[in-house]
Amino acid sequence: MYPAETIYQNAEAFRNSVRSWAAKKGFAVTNHGTSILCSRCSMPNAERKKLEKKAAAVPEGKRRQRKTTRVGCPFKINCSKVDRKNREDKRVKILPSSEFAHSGGCIPSRNQLSVEKRKSGAYTVAANEFHIKSILNCLKTRARVNNGLLREMMKPLFPAGVSLDTKMFLISV
Ligand SMILES: [Zn+2]
Repeated sequence: MYPAETIYQNAEAFRNSVRSWAAKKGFAVTNHGTSILCSRCSMPNAERKKLEKKAAAVPEGKRRQRKTTRVGCPFKINCSKVDRKNREDKRVKILPSSEFAHSGGCIPSRNQLSVEKRKSGAYTVAANEFHIKSILNCLKTRARVNNGLLREMMKPLFPAGVSLDTKMFLISV
């Protein structure tokens, strides 16, 4: 349970606080206006319309099926300014209209968090760094690299506890 009625110095502090709390609990969050939603919430209308428009431009049969992990989870934390009339006062507080329960099949866990992070490309950045270059150099020699060795080489790239399965190895050259 997140401390309700908590006051933050500004919206940024609020978002950072909720984000790190969520990471500890095993779920990812997404900003939506003055609210923070579980990343497995239903897709906001504006975003859905944009995607539908995009899809309509692609001939039928060539449309890619998007995999989604969204289940319409109702979790959300709403906040508002402490003093709406005072422009100088940037403080925000959590509103009682917040919904702290996950449901619809959304069960926060370490595994779920890693899936959400992978989806959002959080690991892609790390993979662009030094390590991946040395791995590619090794592969370039055309020496046989078995899965075990590859896994050992990839391990330092990811936070402890992230399972390295084949989905992780989408390397585009
Ligand atoms: Zn959720």
